[in-house]
Amino acid sequence: MDKYDILKKYFGYSGFREGQEILIDSILQGQDVLGIMPTGAGKSICYQVPALLLPGITLVVSPLISLMKDQVQALNQAGIHAAFINSSLSESQISKALRLAAAGQYKIIYVAPERLETYEFLRFAEQAEISMLTVDEAHCISQWGQDFRPSYLKIVQFIGQLGKRPIISAFTATATENVKEDIVCVLGLRNPRVLVTGFDRSNLYFAVEMPRRKDSHVINYIREHETDSGIIYCATRKNVDTLYEKLRGEGVAVTKYHAGLAAEERRQNQEDFIYDKCPVMVATNAFGMGIDKSNVRYVIHYNMPQSLENYYQEAGRAGRDGERAECILLYSAQDVMINRFLLENKEQRGEYTQEENAAVRERDEERLRMMTFYCMTTECLREFILRYFGESGAGYCGNCLNCVREYDETDVTEEAVKIITCIREVRQRYGINVIAGMLAGAERAKLREYGVMAYQSFGALRDMQESEIKRIINGLLTDNLLVTSNDKYSLLRTTAAAEDVISGTRHILLKQAKKTAERSEESGREQKKPASRLRKSDILNSRGLELFERLRECRTGIAREESLPPYIIFSDKTLVDMCVKVPLSREEMLQVSGVGENKFERYGEAFLQVIADYTGGIREKFYFGETEEADIYSDGSENGRIRRAYGSRKTEFALTEEQADRFPYTDRYLIPEIAEKLNELRDAELVKKTSGAEIFRRLQAEECVAEVIQDGMRRKMISDKGKEAGLFMDMRMSRKGTEYEDIYCDGKAQRWIVAMMK
Ligand code: ADP
Ligand code: ZN
Repeated sequence: MDKYDILKKYFGYSGFREGQEILIDSILQGQDVLGIMPTGAGKSICYQVPALLLPGITLVVSPLISLMKDQVQALNQAGIHAAFINSSLSESQISKALRLAAAGQYKIIYVAPERLETYEFLRFAEQAEISMLTVDEAHCISQWGQDFRPSYLKIVQFIGQLGKRPIISAFTATATENVKEDIVCVLGLRNPRVLVTGFDRSNLYFAVEMPRRKDSHVINYIREHETDSGIIYCATRKNVDTLYEKLRGEGVAVTKYHAGLAAEERRQNQEDFIYDKCPVMVATNAFGMGIDKSNVRYVIHYNMPQSLENYYQEAGRAGRDGERAECILLYSAQDVMINRFLLENKEQRGEYTQEENAAVRERDEERLRMMTFYCMTTECLREFILRYFGESGAGYCGNCLNCVREYDETDVTEEAVKIITCIREVRQRYGINVIAGMLAGAERAKLREYGVMAYQSFGALRDMQESEIKRIINGLLTDNLLVTSNDKYSLLRTTAAAEDVISGTRHILLKQAKKTAERSEESGREQKKPASRLRKSDILNSRGLELFERLRECRTGIAREESLPPYIIFSDKTLVDMCVKVPLSREEMLQVSGVGENKFERYGEAFLQVIADYTGGIREKFYFGETEEADIYSDGSENGRIRRAYGSRKTEFALTEEQADRFPYTDRYLIPEIAEKLNELRDAELVKKTSGAEIFRRLQAEECVAEVIQDGMRRKMISDKGKEAGLFMDMRMSRKGTEYEDIYCDGKAQRWIVAMMK
């Protein structure tokens, strides 16, 4: 088997993504590597594929216990022998795992860095054939980063203690030059192949919104994305608690996380979120390290974070499966003050000198300033982020609010001149509130107290609202014509560049969202649909979306039976691909992105059954457009040409009186069983099949059954009318031998359904 076979057989993908192949090839040639790729780019594949091709064992050092478990579960699902060894296991479990490992049971073993120096582990490592050592989250070795872990330094000692030096591969999503150098030096990488892929996450949509009422904005958003999973980050524990209560009051299946909760409650809540029991998580930034949930469809920041580093990391937890996801920041001027307050009260670090602390403080101030500019900018938000991280984008991405929103441009040079003059006149002694109030000629006690009425500039922009003046000031700040002092007063100062405005050589244009856009923004809707990366509702038509829901339901059922997070079974993206390709056989199912052989053995039939039930074995077109797949799937996989619905010569399902009379009634049938019996009676040459889904739809139209979301799960229900008609709930055995509830039809209901369908 070569790397392509491995990728297809175990992971179900038909092509490598940018960068993956280069790293894999280098490893296979025995070279050390350092892969710097953004979250969701697919770092795991880069060491998992070579691990299967190399002789012996690959050790993966990872700092995050929850992530290890997730990864190992996912590997086991794919049919790869893997294990993890960390403090969540008992001593005897660890001994057993090491025994099995020594006996060659595992190809990949995840370990916590602390484990490396234990006697037992070292003894194992000395005897085993370790071909590769992979360091995940490698930035943890750098003292420059925010996540420095002293235990990572043990990796170096550990390597030294091994008889034969393994290939070393390191991976991280942190790209700064310092961190990169640290990883190479401290880990002692030998002539490593360093690969940095772009930081852009093209499937993420970015927006900054300034709703008047954040709570109702969030509630509306969740309502419009009811079936989606998302995270809402708040700045403080108190905000988390309050918003959590509000959402619960609105009937949202929500959970929460912050450092003030007991460890057990945190664990439970995190699990409820990961297993989609509660698809919405409200949390402080304490939540998320090591959360590998791939189907997070949105990350909303209820408050502005302290830096773009934090923001991009937190927002980046959306859309790890590569499907479209939204990152929305809800800005209010108050957020800046909260953050100032947090910075000022941040503990000074004892191990730093006064000077170092001052430097850190200055750095934090600067970061906050850039974060604020991100909220203010009218340029492409993606461009802003990429430039901040030292990359340049195209200037227009078409997939952020600023790119899709329409603006009016106004020349505000005259106003800018008055603002700059005013700031100079008061000798840069006031902040934005005083300056704006002063220019607007406001009669506030505070202003009177400062005596600003005496200045010439007082009332110079009398016709304008203070908020409008502030908007221009913010524009001047963004353009670096003004700066603020780096203290809690944030006094406005003019820069040298401001002179060009005064002298008339520079014109100031202010972009403002068109009024219509603002109004629609209030209701939480954008004006235009972003151009790139489609949502599933843009790809699938209504029939397709319904099939998607059936597939998702099937996935939820299996997840519950096997106590696995749903996304470990199949990602949303894989389910969408099933709806597009409509596989009807094993071979066709294996063509779906994300369906490997092992996954197929486990789950394939169940999903094929859902598709067969839904389509009656006849391929329909469940998506919009003719040749859109190339746009939908960016991983370059050659997606099967979609065949047009064939068999269209057949007529819709129907039975003759005589056929219907032959229906084999019993005391109970499941709905799909009725469909099956009906199909046996029809004239297969001329008549299309019906399906359980179709019958369910008809019953739904008759208001006999309904589907509700309860605790974040879809559940079927029977109405009183349905009960009267002879429908009832009972337990049913799953393929795995566990029980769950489903709808049955008694003899009376069967007669009614047959009459309805024929
Ligand atoms: P990272 O560790 O870089 O954050 P992951 O390794 O978790 O990212 O991969 C993110 C997602 O992308 C996973 O769902 C993974 O299965 C998927 N993926 C990785 N490589 C490919 C590929 N070559 N084709 C399609 N999907 C891929
Ligand atoms: Zn953009």
